Amino acid sequence: MGIKERLTAIREKIARAAEKAGRKPEEIKLLGASKTQPPEKIREAFEAGLSLFGENYVQEAKKKKEALADLPLTWHLIGYLQRNKARDAIKIFDLIETVDRKAIAAELEKRAARHEKIIPVFIEVNVGGEETKAGVAPEDLPALVEYVLSLSHLSLEGLMTIPPYRENPEDVRPFFVRLRELKEDIERRFPEAKLRELSMGMSHDFHVAVEEGATIVRVGTALFGPRPKK
Ligand SMILES: *Cc1c(COP(=O)(O)O)cnc(C)c1O
Repeated sequence: MGIKERLTAIREKIARAAEKAGRKPEEIKLLGASKTQPPEKIREAFEAGLSLFGENYVQEAKKKKEALADLPLTWHLIGYLQRNKARDAIKIFDLIETVDRKAIAAELEKRAARHEKIIPVFIEVNVGGEETKAGVAPEDLPALVEYVLSLSHLSLEGLMTIPPYRENPEDVRPFFVRLRELKEDIERRFPEAKLRELSMGMSHDFHVAVEEGATIVRVGTALFGPRPKK
């Protein structure tokens, strides 16, 4: 199966999940998680109808973006952002999904102000409480939201999570529910916060995420096939 066929299959699965949940399939955006995939694969996905991509590493994204400069693509940062990469990140990405601490928000604000830009961001939440994972702890989310809302060059537009891996996608469902509930809680506490997007769900569980309210699913291997080694 090529990328085109896989893309069709993924879109059908999204549509089925949306229907099951009484949602419109158009509410859900598919992001191609393209880390370690060569630019040719991204081009192939674009030709098949996809224009939103997510990269994990700033330098890797920079090279690919240059190689694909002739295409109207949208790029999200979906990997951990180091402070010394913030300057490049705001030049390369249209949206940063992984704001997870005050220090990185402050650094992005500083850089964005210098470029007179407003950067759309999501806050990444560690819903599973895993020590090895990035993301703000759910109990610290309100304070981080309050801080990001106070920054005039960051536009907070959603939440993102990478839940713990579970063999059975059904076992991931409670983590997706948790992110949706956190969004609702934040919107109650901060009426000025418009969290339009919930970025959750990957290759093996995106259908469950759609049922629980995902507006962006980040799909890598199910779309591109196995990742080449770096
Ligand atoms: C790699 C990655 C994905 C996609 O993972 P697959 O299981 O290949 O679909 C999604 N989100 C993030 C943050 C990733 O790093």
